[in-house]
Amino acid sequence: MTQMNGKSAVIALGGNAITQPGMEDTIANQFANTRRSLDGIVDLAKAGYNLAISHGNGPQVGNAILRVELARGKAPILPLGICVADTGGGMGYMIEQSLQNRLKQEGLDRRVVTIISQVIVDRNDPQIAHPTKFIGQFYTEEQAHRFTKERRWVMKPDANRGWRRVVPSPQPLSVVESETIKTLVEQGTIVIAVGGGGAPVYIDEKGNYEGLDAVIDKDLASAVLGRDINSEILMILTSVDKVAINYGKSDETLLHDITLSQARQYYDEGHFPPGSMGPKIRAAMQFIQDGGKEVIITSIANAGRAFDAGVGTRIRPD
Ligand code: ADP
Ligand code: MG
Repeated sequence: MTQMNGKSAVIALGGNAITQPGMEDTIANQFANTRRSLDGIVDLAKAGYNLAISHGNGPQVGNAILRVELARGKAPILPLGICVADTGGGMGYMIEQSLQNRLKQEGLDRRVVTIISQVIVDRNDPQIAHPTKFIGQFYTEEQAHRFTKERRWVMKPDANRGWRRVVPSPQPLSVVESETIKTLVEQGTIVIAVGGGGAPVYIDEKGNYEGLDAVIDKDLASAVLGRDINSEILMILTSVDKVAINYGKSDETLLHDITLSQARQYYDEGHFPPGSMGPKIRAAMQFIQDGGKEVIITSIANAGRAFDAGVGTRIRPD
């Protein structure tokens, strides 16, 4: 058995871990990228961390929606929650199998399992009445108006590229399967959970779970998972080594170690755009506020060295 170190971490894998921009999007490439992005995670497993892994699903769920559209009239329409659960299963399978093979090669005796996750949201979340998250293909204005009538989709122009469907991205409140995930993680099983942010559900008048056509941000879902399973650490692996203020400007400054209040100040000053760094910093702040000890944001390539001095951006309690 691996010597465990008593610490637990949730690792959120960014989109780049599985699909690289500019590389042909095939399953063979997705597997190759997945294998490469697991190096750091294997190092953390070796160091004895209890681990849960979450991941994004942007390109994959986009493809799932495209397949539904292409198959209209031939195969049943799948609601968005099913598409999220389907990609959570497919991507979970890829990550799980790749990790199992690597752990075996390294002689590490750690189990791996994927749990398809439901994430509870408030049915009165303001996003549900005023959705903002673009998904799926681009359409003409004429098609957009037709789909608003026929399918009751909310359609909006996306920059100048055409019209797209928008769906709510409500705030995640808790993970339905968290007790099971916690038990497994505490036993040393590496659990892949809240893939693509998890399938959003609300609790109806009768107390039943009910899915809704929405998506959940994977960074925010990872923070909630971390809180629900009592992880000390949230590690967000993305495409940059460090978070910056004045990102991309001549006075860009990399952040090494910041407190919760500093993170809030920079966030309020607008250094972190919605849809990229914004949700990561919000997730970090939420996780620390809920009792987390440390958030590390760094590149996938840095994961194995993420606890070394000078690597990544660390966010800690005040
Ligand atoms: P992921 O798939 O990992 O969630 P995102 O594209 O959503 O990746 O977010 C990561 C991206 O955020 C980086 O590639 C970077 O271009 C961008 N970014 C925006 N603002 C900042 C910032 N202040 N510091 C660092 N990166 C930033
Ligand atoms: Mg993102």
